[in-house]
Amino acid sequence: MSQIIHRSLHSTPPVAVSAQGAYITDAAGKRYLDACGGAAVSCLGHAHPDVLAAMHRQIDQLAYAHTGFFTSDTVEQLAAQLTRTAPGDLNYAYFVSGGSEAVETALKLARQYFVEIGQPQRTRFVARAQSYHGNTLGALAVGGNEWRRRQFAPLLIDVVRVSACNAYRDRRADESEQAYTQRLLNELEQAILEAGPETLIGFCAETVVGATTGATPPTPGYLQGVRRLCDKYGMLYIADEVMCGMGRTGTLHAFEQDDVVPDIVTIAKGLGGGYQPIGAVLASEKIVAALQAGSGLFQHGHTYICHPTAAAAALAVQQVIERDNLLEAVKTQGARLHQQLREVLGELPHVGDTRGRGLFAGVELVEDKASKRPFDPAFKLHAQIKANCMARGLMVYPMGGTLDGQYGDHILIAPPFIVTASQIDFVVDTLRQVIVEET
Ligand code: PLP
Repeated sequence: MSQIIHRSLHSTPPVAVSAQGAYITDAAGKRYLDACGGAAVSCLGHAHPDVLAAMHRQIDQLAYAHTGFFTSDTVEQLAAQLTRTAPGDLNYAYFVSGGSEAVETALKLARQYFVEIGQPQRTRFVARAQSYHGNTLGALAVGGNEWRRRQFAPLLIDVVRVSACNAYRDRRADESEQAYTQRLLNELEQAILEAGPETLIGFCAETVVGATTGATPPTPGYLQGVRRLCDKYGMLYIADEVMCGMGRTGTLHAFEQDDVVPDIVTIAKGLGGGYQPIGAVLASEKIVAALQAGSGLFQHGHTYICHPTAAAAALAVQQVIERDNLLEAVKTQGARLHQQLREVLGELPHVGDTRGRGLFAGVELVEDKASKRPFDPAFKLHAQIKANCMARGLMVYPMGGTLDGQYGDHILIAPPFIVTASQIDFVVDTLRQVIVEET
């Protein structure tokens, strides 16, 4: 019996012993095609020689130095790489160990910005229903997934909640996409006015929603409307790209496809590709300038910020993506994946929607296609799909729908940027067989 508190306390997962390229092998010698990068993490696949070499060099030279005493060349180079490739004036980076830490950092940075510029009455965030921003208390508070929040709700800060942007679920039959988008923006403005704009710090949202509804992109013009409202009411726009960022959607940052630049961006999973735990916050010039002109200190910090070995892994991952032009591969293979999902799975009676951007795709399952009624959550369809796929040597990331029946079970697909056409064919073909068997 394992002495680890695993995700389930009733079962122990298979033991992974090695990994190479797009595959992970377990202790029984069985190979799995990693078509979800764990949770959209492994963007370069496993055991990339350039990343391993960079990590080895860094460990030999300087594995760790505390930031209370030193910086390192590697982390400075990583900051230069990320700020050079980010649009607008996202000129600063802060490095942490993962996505939730990045979100906590973003929330605190935004709050401190307003304290520094003499608006300490700004104390609340606006965030969306059915979102996921991490499992630490601040990140869980802005997140809108009731199942994750419920038992911890008494510990969470109060957040102004607005609707998700989910055209498949929430656009009315008689409503154009444009009218739906405008309805959401009207709702957001109303919520801002009701809360009192002078009390609000900012709006926080995933550009493409990942864990809770499965690669759900914003409607055209939605994020531009969000940006306009944030500017109008003096609020900051925080884009959480922990899952959808760093090339996963075909542009380095997903928001580039929406033609907006946030004030603060969180990134994590694809930053280090799973080679080391690392996350980051990118911050715009005006935020850092306000802290520089004010207290001269960001009142935050963890023991492992700016970790040199994590930075070496992330720098190598980002250099390989740039050198090998992998964003183009994401676009090409992403187009193939989406076309096949539409054509092969879209035909099935229980596939309600296929969606996403680049190599970030979601499939939503429904019991009844016409009414979009989800399967009964007690049926645990997502768990059956996962087990069946694993039995066939395929890793995808299925999640349950909401308990109130508003959203159906979905399957998240996020293969590495090096995925081949035949591997995509295997993913879609296997999923088709599994969905047919389980629904
Ligand atoms: N934000 C988003 C959008 C995420 O998808 C996640 C994780 O799935 C997080 C934050 C939390 O990241 P981590 O699990 O690394 O703490």
